[in-house]
Amino acid sequence: DWAAAVDAVRTGLRPGARVLLVCHVNPDGDALGSMLGFAQGLRRLGVTSLQCTFPGPLTVPEPLHMPAMDLLIPEAEADPAPDLLVTFDAASESRLGALVDRLETATVSLVLDHHASNTGFGKVSLVDPCAAATSVVAAELLRRLDVPLDRDMAECLYIALVTDTGSFKFDLTTPEVHELAARLVATGIDVGAISRRIFDSRPFGAVRLFGEVMGRAQLEPASAGGRGLVYAVATLDDLRKHDQPPYVLEALIDSVRCVAEADVALLLKQVAPTEWAVSMRSKGGADVSRIAVAMGGGGHRLAAGFTGHGTAEEIIDAVRERLAAQG
Ligand code: 5GP
Ligand code: MN
Ligand code: MN
Repeated sequence: DWAAAVDAVRTGLRPGARVLLVCHVNPDGDALGSMLGFAQGLRRLGVTSLQCTFPGPLTVPEPLHMPAMDLLIPEAEADPAPDLLVTFDAASESRLGALVDRLETATVSLVLDHHASNTGFGKVSLVDPCAAATSVVAAELLRRLDVPLDRDMAECLYIALVTDTGSFKFDLTTPEVHELAARLVATGIDVGAISRRIFDSRPFGAVRLFGEVMGRAQLEPASAGGRGLVYAVATLDDLRKHDQPPYVLEALIDSVRCVAEADVALLLKQVAPTEWAVSMRSKGGADVSRIAVAMGGGGHRLAAGFTGHGTAEEIIDAVRERLAAQG
């Protein structure tokens, strides 16, 4: 609850307290934006020992570059036993990689998240499945701590909001989301430039890569328990052929899910010969987070994902079966 969360943050405000912020592996706009926005709020409140990190290599895709990235440190340099640990947008402990041990070593741990599949880890947990983004939760906590928004803070929180709502298109885009957006935009952030950088700008090679992968997409009108299923498979060969880094594929699911005949969309992104990052989207009939959780991942009812092992066909078969079982 909010009071416990405010109390948790106050631990981190004690003189000399060391604070560690962690977001989920392979961070997206919400993970990074909510963490870096909140970090700037903590700085405002006087926190001086402040680290931000995430598991894995410390690389941020260019479209997600944002203010306060100087606070990011490699996970190896993260405080082994901080006074306060805050996690962002992580639905389960596995999303924290090797940093999961900080849940034990930190004096206080606070979990900020919005996944219905959140497993309830952390000493204090602030998880709102009705929030469109973790940044909605983070912004509300900052408001309750009386932190005034500034432009850089707002840019981070806005990037988080605009990415997780699909530019204010998805189902959880409530009046409160627009009210928060209004407060963020009022700080003077350049929403046009942010949108162009994140959504409307990709290398020509990535456009050709998208064309190639979409050219092989398959539609199964009668799959998914009578619902249509569309799927596409992006291999490491595709990336090599078009000389593109894996992150460019993050946007591709938005093209796959547009297929009118399909209620469920699936994108398999190869990360190793028998390892795939799988993105799933539903238009409402199917709960893809249940499938993701069953496959070892997580997410939301209409947008979820997991790491799959085996051949692409095996993974598609497994998803198809679970969809059919959902009826
Ligand atoms: P995306 O398909 O855009 O990568 O992710 C959609 C949603 O599924 C996000 O909310 C994300 O948190 C969740 N998700 C994606 N991949 C994984 C995964 O491997 N594990 C878990 N637990 N959640 C995932
Ligand atoms: Mn996320
Ligand atoms: Mn999120």
